[in-house]
Amino acid sequence: MSLITDLFWKKPQIRNNSYDILFSLIETISEIVIVTNEESFIIASNSLANDFFKNISKNIIGKRLSELIRSLEVHEGFRKTFSEGVSTELKYESIRDDKRVFSVNISPLSFEENKNAIGVFTDITQLEHLESVRQEFLSNVSHELRTPLTSIIAFVETLEDGAIEDTENNYRFLSVIRKNAERMNHLISDISELTSIEAGKISIHYQHFDLNLMVNEIYTNLSVKADKRAISLKNLVTKKSQIFADKQRFEQILTNLIDNAIKFSHENGSVKVIYSQREDEDIVTVEDSGEGIGSEHLERIFERFYRTDKARSREIGGTGLGLAIVKHLVRLHGGEIFVKSTLGEGSSFSIEIPKKSTHKIKSVI
Ligand code: ADP
Repeated sequence: MSLITDLFWKKPQIRNNSYDILFSLIETISEIVIVTNEESFIIASNSLANDFFKNISKNIIGKRLSELIRSLEVHEGFRKTFSEGVSTELKYESIRDDKRVFSVNISPLSFEENKNAIGVFTDITQLEHLESVRQEFLSNVSHELRTPLTSIIAFVETLEDGAIEDTENNYRFLSVIRKNAERMNHLISDISELTSIEAGKISIHYQHFDLNLMVNEIYTNLSVKADKRAISLKNLVTKKSQIFADKQRFEQILTNLIDNAIKFSHENGSVKVIYSQREDEDIVTVEDSGEGIGSEHLERIFERFYRTDKARSREIGGTGLGLAIVKHLVRLHGGEIFVKSTLGEGSSFSIEIPKKSTHKIKSVI
């Protein structure tokens, strides 16, 4: 609890129960609280406020409000509260060390013969961040859905306008409609997968399984795609290598990485899966001899909807969500994913997951 300096004990007789109650009360509020008098001096504050302003002054009592806060809006808010006797709500962005955003409520606080104002600063930095992430996500989703939808509508209109009788093209138009509808379907299932993971609705069911067999199965499933472009799939995992993870989720992780490795490989390229281990970790690496990723993109490719070449990724059926899902799933196993890449030479994605005895779940966000 802060003490009011003698300077502000204008009248010794007001040092009574009311003030003691005020100090006790503001100390219980889990927000930053300051109380000013009509001359804009701080006459009371709680520990959170003292802590927040500690780089400006060790003792904020007796300081002018303007010494602590350089915001016209905040000063205007206090002024209005004093002149009109009403509560004011405003937003305040502190740009001192790290940027923090506060919702500020300033209310009149009169007792004894003194007119004061109490400012409660609620930190909404995280809320604001979440809100902007949500808005960005929604705008990305609607943009991603709009592109195939526009194409579907255009082709349906073309068919309605007579192209349905055009036997040379009508099936081609229908197949474009189907391709775009499938893209939307793919996108929606990736979005719902990602939101389920982020909402913590996915749990991991650990079991031992044979990694070599799993890689062979994934290769079989993706062989048509790889064969079309003569990409060789090499399984370098030693036979009978055992992994302890969620089998279905691990298959999903590897399928995503191998599918990408094929998608971004040149004709006649190769894709390898390699297994190694450290004392506490299993390491599975998917390596390709494809086009590689520029160093400026490497940090961002695990972000939702981030693609090095949007148009191309869409063209080859990508949603831009695959790696975000992979990263979350690896983290749900308490692991981490790393990427190394050289433009024009290829990429390698390594998943490191703790062995049975050491796994510990990390935050997925
Ligand atoms: P997409 O659906 O576009 O494949 P991902 O989230 O799986 O989305 O990947 C994001 C982006 O990362 C891709 O669009 C691509 O630019 C890049 N990328 C992913 N894997 C590879 C790879 N093996 N080689 C080159 N670029 C890759």
